[in-house]
Amino acid sequence: MSTPFNVRQAAVIGAGTMGRGIVISLARAGLPVLWLDNDPSATEAGLAMLAQTWAQQVTKGRIDQAEADACLARVCAAGAYADLADVDLVIEAVYENLALKQDIFRTLDRTLNAQAILASNTSALDIDAIAAVTGRPEQVLGLHFFSPAHVMKLLEVVRGARTSPAVIDAARALGQRIGKEVVVAGNCPGFIGNRMLATYVAEARKLLLEGATPRQVDEALQAFGMAMGPFRMYDVVGIDLEWRARQLAGTGMEAPLVQVDNALCEQGRFGQKSGQGYYRYAPGSREAEHDPEVDALVFKVAQGLGMHRRTIDDEEIRERCLLALVNEGAKILEESVADCSADIDRVYLHGYGFPAALGGPMHWADQQGLSLLLARLERLQGLFGEHWRPAGLLMRLVAEGKQLADVREGRA
Ligand code: NAD
Repeated sequence: MSTPFNVRQAAVIGAGTMGRGIVISLARAGLPVLWLDNDPSATEAGLAMLAQTWAQQVTKGRIDQAEADACLARVCAAGAYADLADVDLVIEAVYENLALKQDIFRTLDRTLNAQAILASNTSALDIDAIAAVTGRPEQVLGLHFFSPAHVMKLLEVVRGARTSPAVIDAARALGQRIGKEVVVAGNCPGFIGNRMLATYVAEARKLLLEGATPRQVDEALQAFGMAMGPFRMYDVVGIDLEWRARQLAGTGMEAPLVQVDNALCEQGRFGQKSGQGYYRYAPGSREAEHDPEVDALVFKVAQGLGMHRRTIDDEEIRERCLLALVNEGAKILEESVADCSADIDRVYLHGYGFPAALGGPMHWADQQGLSLLLARLERLQGLFGEHWRPAGLLMRLVAEGKQLADVREGRA
């Protein structure tokens, strides 16, 4: 039976990195997609990339030519918003800037049929602030895909304050239809995954300034089992994304923790895409090679900030990065941004390369023993300050002899 939110025809706005992967995911699952970018050459290049991707799949024997042709035929470039009037769902994937996204949502709200669901692929912006510019906030939500969107399994479905349960159900069904691991998240900066990542990366960046090198931090965390250390990950994602977002927003450029990233971007070292970032890459290779010039740059930036560098061992790197992740995860659980600790674990297993054998950060924390973990956080708080204050939920669980796995919707 057809429900008001049955998605039969989709549209994607933005034909960059994410738009391309999202279009592939939708078309591959049989959905017709209209594709709009304000730069028509971006859609053209996107369509060529899609054709190439599906041709490669045929060569590898994963799909046959008829399937490749059918996938490509499902995707049509749109020339204007009016062409999207009858779609059931639109996913916006333009630059990470609130004012720009709000502009687009105003236009979508004016142009699309009243039943259409409006989704944003924002990585961290406020879904409610986007929904507020429309006359249909109950039909606005986040659909946070991970890069590359046609490969990564995770899809965070972000619930705004006014998103209706039927719209969340439709998003969940769509995610399952396109083969994603769906996790519903509440609306807060960074949602589940990127909010936790921010605390983890902040520790990694502090460790650089205090005395570690990018390679040392990455290797210490890879020895724990992370698929990729944070600086290798930044090279893959593109160091310039956050740098450009800071420039567009006009805030955050001065923060000490981003000075190494700023300096790298000023030298055009954006990561793999430019052949050099935190590491260097031989032409055509994705193999991260140590670059002593980056160590020298880190040293220079730290000196410029007046930091007294010291020897840091791998144990301290793991302790600080992993406990930062877990403590933020506990706050997310406490605030009901995630419904349960298993959802947080799924986000980290399917979107962030947390070692599968350890079951995810929250499961790992339970296995460590929460009272011991609490004592470790209190020690870090004593050494490094208030940002290490343990989540209230952890204190409560320890007092009650419970685990993170016992928490449901903020309560144990
Ligand atoms: P991108 O720079 O690769 O592509 C953005 C596209 O949007 C460009 O093709 C540009 O021409 C188009 N665009 C800009 N303004 C437009 C407008 N007014 N109308 C129509 N099209 C417009 O960016 P991206 O990496 O694909 O990121 C897109 C969104 O996805 C951002 O919100 C980003 O935070 C989010 N995101 C990115 C990643 C990632 O790893 N790249 C991961 C998850 C989410």
